[in-house]
Formats: sequence, structure tokens, C-alpha cells
Amino acid sequence: MITLTARLQAVLARIADAARQYGRAASDVRLLAVSKTWPTTSVAELAAAGQRSFGESYVQEGIDKIGRLRELALEWHFIGALQANKTRLVSESFDWVHSVDRLRIAQRLSASRPSSLPPLSVCLQVNVSGEATKRGVSLAAAPDLAHAVAALPRLRLRGLMAIPAPSDDFLDQRRPFRRLRELSEHLQAEGLPFDTLSMGMSHDLEAAIAEGATLVRVGTAIFGERITA
Ligand SMILES: *Cc1c(COP(=O)(O)O)cnc(C)c1O
Repeated sequence: MITLTARLQAVLARIADAARQYGRAASDVRLLAVSKTWPTTSVAELAAAGQRSFGESYVQEGIDKIGRLRELALEWHFIGALQANKTRLVSESFDWVHSVDRLRIAQRLSASRPSSLPPLSVCLQVNVSGEATKRGVSLAAAPDLAHAVAALPRLRLRGLMAIPAPSDDFLDQRRPFRRLRELSEHLQAEGLPFDTLSMGMSHDLEAAIAEGATLVRVGTAIFGERITA
């Protein structure tokens, strides 16, 4: 039987191989283990193997795990669709939010971030594939939103995130990641102190690393196929 720890090590090896191949340091690419739909016991097993950062897409499920595993002092990232009526729950419990795509959500997260906690780290989710059904701010609207979010007092804008349309072709996978990196470089040149490009999942993390990902969000390759969502 392949253990979770072995699958974690295999993903870390993929990250290190891709980093080496594209002239980057493996330590420049962080792994976010996407634990949505998987039990707290699996998260604890990976934590014991050294994994510190976990991603959740559903507010109540995430808060439940954060509460149960509080003494492990893990880092929790919210990566799902965020509704305005859930912003307080998220800003009180999570360390990061990757899915900010409109100012109203960012304002609410900032206003409800407890003063006992450091500013909430956030990424703007950008719609790099231009599909009508995908969430995320458009490439054209992203600069204005980035500057507005960066000015909010209780948020720390760390960079950009994207979920491109899936493709089996490596060059097709790279193209939307390149667009996100170019937008990030443009915004850095305008003075935004970004340190995060959140891009790449189980099936395309090599293409994302080739284009400069600093954080890959990996679920299936660690935990296996999800039954739901
Ligand atoms: C579920 C999810 C992932 C992980 O996807 P896998 O293909 O299982 O690696 C990454 N990012 C987001 C935003 C997700 O919702």
C-alpha cells in the first residue's frame, strides 16, 4: 500500500525535479497540500511527515479541521469561492486567502480580520483563460483591483493565483501561467511587493514551475481522487 507520506514525498520530488530542470531552487516553490474533502486524520498524518501548509475550499469543513488540529499550529489557506456572508468566518480562522476577485470581498475580509492576528495574506485570483464560467478578475481589471486591495489595512497582498483550463499539452499548460507571471511582473514594476505566484495543481505543476510558480496547490496527487468536488 502506498502511504500518504510516500505520496507526499513523490510530489516533493516532482517539485524538486521541475525546479532543477527550469533553473530554479526547489526551496523557492512551496507545496500547499489541498486537503478538501479529506479527513482530519489524513492532515495529521501529513503534518507528522513535515507538511505545514494546507488548503481548503469549503468554509465550514476548513474551520472544523482548523479547530481540531489547533495544537499542531499548521498554516491554513482558503482557496475556494468566497461568498460575502462567509468573509468573517474566513478572516477569523485562516492565514491566507487565494481567491480574492472583487473589492467588496477584500474590504469585508480586511474589516473583519481580528486585531490579535497578523494581517491576512491574500492573493488575487485572475481569470487567465478568459472563460465565462471561471471565477477570477479579468487580466484587464486586475491592476486596479490589486492597487485597491494593497491599500486595505488588515490585508497583505502577496501576489496572484490562477486556475487555468485543464490541458494535456505542456505548451498549452504553460501559456496561461506565463500570462499570470507577466501580469505579476508588471504589478511588481508598479511597486507592489509580491512574493507569491500561486499556480499549478496535480496535473500541471511542472508547467507552472517552468513559468515561475512559488506555490503549487496539490490535492489528488497526494490524497488520491476525490469522490466529490
Ligand atoms: C481542488 C483544488 C486544487 C487541487 O487540485 P488537484 O487537481 O486535486 O491537485 C488546487 N487549487 C484549487 C483552487 C482547488 O480548488
